[in-house]
Amino acid sequence: MQQVQIQEFILRDTSLICPSCSTPFASPQIARMPNITAETTIEADLHRVLPAAAVRGALIAICPACVYTWWSTAFAPHFYVPDLLVPSPEIEYPKKFAHAVLTGRKNGAHALDRALLALNGLWCARETYIGAGPEQMDNYRADNERWLVLAVQELDTALRDEDWNGNRHRYAYIMGEVLRQLADFHAAVRYLDTVVARRAMLPQELIDHQRQLAMAGVSDPTVLPPHVVEAIFLPKPQVIVAEAEEPIPAISTPLIFTTPSMQMTAAVR
Ligand SMILES: [Zn+2]
Repeated sequence: MQQVQIQEFILRDTSLICPSCSTPFASPQIARMPNITAETTIEADLHRVLPAAAVRGALIAICPACVYTWWSTAFAPHFYVPDLLVPSPEIEYPKKFAHAVLTGRKNGAHALDRALLALNGLWCARETYIGAGPEQMDNYRADNERWLVLAVQELDTALRDEDWNGNRHRYAYIMGEVLRQLADFHAAVRYLDTVVARRAMLPQELIDHQRQLAMAGVSDPTVLPPHVVEAIFLPKPQVIVAEAEEPIPAISTPLIFTTPSMQMTAAVR
């Protein structure tokens, strides 16, 4: 069985069945993901920076027969060992997320699902350029902008839909932050001004800080300081109790990018 270690992350080939055409195939999944600590690199759009695009790419599986593409944990497992099966097609990692958005549109997936896929595509595209030289910066900027535009489109559709009641304030915050990165500062501030920190379960200082950056016309991605990472991702139990009236949305994909991977770790073990 193929296994790859990238820093503390382990990817392992797994056997899956396509829900659309029933073809069994092999696709890598994340078999080990280190827990988030205060020192983990997390950016202000609430994504954990992964060490390589291959790691985030393993969140998605593509059927080699019909190109159905979705979160790899949503596929049923097959009992064959992966070595005996056709492998998932090898395409650039961010493109897996683009295929997944298309599959989602075709199958009527909720816009929030598609927004999460678009956001992951954005982050995966960025991770593709980790260690890239200055000669690749033009490509990086073009890719980055395309993904930002797609994420804004899908988030906008999701936020206009009144029929789901998850953590809308957190998504509005992410929308504001993505618009800031897109240099649409006016719209970014407008969204950030709608966010109630307590309801978004985010520190007020984070919202204020990103708003200030938008006001100053700064579009660069920003890394969260350790105490903010702690407040958001390693909260004390009473914070969770205080927000218990907020139901989790009935949507198959996770609220934020970190949750799926952690669930996946549990599922693969
Ligand atoms: Zn298929």
